[in-house]
Amino acid sequence: MKLFIAGHRGMVGGALVRRFAQEADADIVTRTRAELDLTNQAAVDAFFASEKPDVAIIAAAKVGGIHANNTYPAEFAYDNLALATNCIHAAYRNGVGRLLFLGSSCIYPKLAPQPMPEDCLLTGPLEPTNEAYAIAKIAGLKLAEYYRRQYGVCYHSAMPTNLYGPGDNYHAQNSHVLPALIRRFHEAKESKQAEVVAWGTGSPKREFLHVDDLADACAFLLGMAEPPDLINVGTGTDVSIKELTEIVAEVVGYAGTITWDSSKPDGTPRKLMDVSKLSALGWSARIALREGVTKTYQSFLDEMAAGTL
Ligand code: GDP
Repeated sequence: MKLFIAGHRGMVGGALVRRFAQEADADIVTRTRAELDLTNQAAVDAFFASEKPDVAIIAAAKVGGIHANNTYPAEFAYDNLALATNCIHAAYRNGVGRLLFLGSSCIYPKLAPQPMPEDCLLTGPLEPTNEAYAIAKIAGLKLAEYYRRQYGVCYHSAMPTNLYGPGDNYHAQNSHVLPALIRRFHEAKESKQAEVVAWGTGSPKREFLHVDDLADACAFLLGMAEPPDLINVGTGTDVSIKELTEIVAEVVGYAGTITWDSSKPDGTPRKLMDVSKLSALGWSARIALREGVTKTYQSFLDEMAAGTL
């Protein structure tokens, strides 16, 4: 099986490469951004025409936390739409029989029932802070579904909840909450700061999935002959941002005070996946949050030591 993993330098793509490297029959194909610009339609088509992969996983995306999504909506919409349409169409044109498109839990309405089942898609307005990204991901998953319906190719999608793990983005402003807190608590510990400021009120609730669990779920889905068009991938449990700050502080070993900057947005109040569909098929997450944060902090320290952050 020749497997193209789009976005292998990212956190998700990196986990997929690690996971599929364990499969004896997987011949993994990757391209860096410098080698292949996925927003360039002609280049993507030429790549698929020359490599002819059997399977493609679209893990490439322009991603960011609440601040980045809110500040750069044009780029979040354009880049994600372009790479989704280019990859799906070029895959189809060049005989790729199987494709897995990865989305995000933010595709669901802001006020979706909690936990959010797959069929609440397109039943209400989106959370405004990440609408641009969500619209692009909805377009991508629908495109995969339409190609499957019209052309009979096995193109399907998985919607992971908030992810974390090795290779995350630790940017102070543009990252997601978990890596942002790891960095902030680590720096506060190192410089003996008495106080760390977290954003919002701390009351929103989020679910966090270790990226190695996601990669395993992708392998599981690709092993199915008739996978669902769309399936949620999560742990099925969530924590408040306040609880998360306490876990991260403890793992990092920061003993100071945590204060809240309520001028920063909270975003959607709760975002918990309904994972009953995937559980019924036989897959569930294995890495508990505290264990995953501990492993991630270690990989953060390793990256700091190696100078790759
Ligand atoms: P979201 O899940 O799309 O809202 O994205 P984030 O991971 O960026 O934010 C999740 C929640 O964590 C929001 O309520 C943020 O206000 C809160 N939060 C607390 N501290 C931070 C921080 O330092 N960075 C980020 N990105 N979010 C934070």
